[in-house]
Amino acid sequence: MIRTPEEIAKMRKAGKVVAEIIERTQAAVRPGVSTLDLDKVAREVIERRHARSNFFNYHGFPATICTSPNNMIVHGIPSADVVLKEGDIISVDCGAIIEGYHGDAAYTMGVGGISKAARRLIEVTAASLEAAIEVMREDNRLHDIGRAVQDTAEAAGYSVVRKYVGHAIGTAMHEEPQVPNYWPGNPGPKLKVGNVYAIEPMVNIGGPDTIELEDGWSVITADGSLSAHFEHTIAITEDGPEVLTRG
Ligand code: MG
Ligand code: MG
Repeated sequence: MIRTPEEIAKMRKAGKVVAEIIERTQAAVRPGVSTLDLDKVAREVIERRHARSNFFNYHGFPATICTSPNNMIVHGIPSADVVLKEGDIISVDCGAIIEGYHGDAAYTMGVGGISKAARRLIEVTAASLEAAIEVMREDNRLHDIGRAVQDTAEAAGYSVVRKYVGHAIGTAMHEEPQVPNYWPGNPGPKLKVGNVYAIEPMVNIGGPDTIELEDGWSVITADGSLSAHFEHTIAITEDGPEVLTRG
């Protein structure tokens, strides 16, 4: 879908709220904090900025953000019982709606000091998103995005999750088309000025396979290896990619 400059201006506003959620939750991450505490931080930002949550009640999801520690890839439910400890990594996925337009982003960070292996995973996953953003230019192809993610992750010896993917975004959080984080065997359509995508590499130290837990949400790595997740909402403009969810 092609979004008008007026629509992208609204998505930019939503993106600024998401950027503030990122900034505030990152500042709150430390040993002893629960993932429910992080959810409260996010909810406070949404309320103060007069935004709406696109996560709360999404297919019944009970919180404002997803919090996924260590070998959990995505969709973890914030809980007072999940208390962060030194050496953990935590993935936070968050979003907001302003004037009917959505923003969506995610990050992974360490809790206190973390292992060299965990730090490298986080750095490579962040770099895979940056490589993807770099190819989001008019007349490149949709699946250049996934190829850039996959090349970056696999060059480091990691694997890219197949089952969960990025997506177009606008007046709904998840719009068509989906955007895999790998080369699906064909280039896909040309990218156009006005396209807006939420690109979200999920990268595992081990294999790409996933298991959904009995809560119906939490997704972990099948082999128990650590996983990281970064996401931004990006508009393709005449001047190149514009990251809407960056502060
Ligand atoms: Mg997200
Ligand atoms: Mg998303």
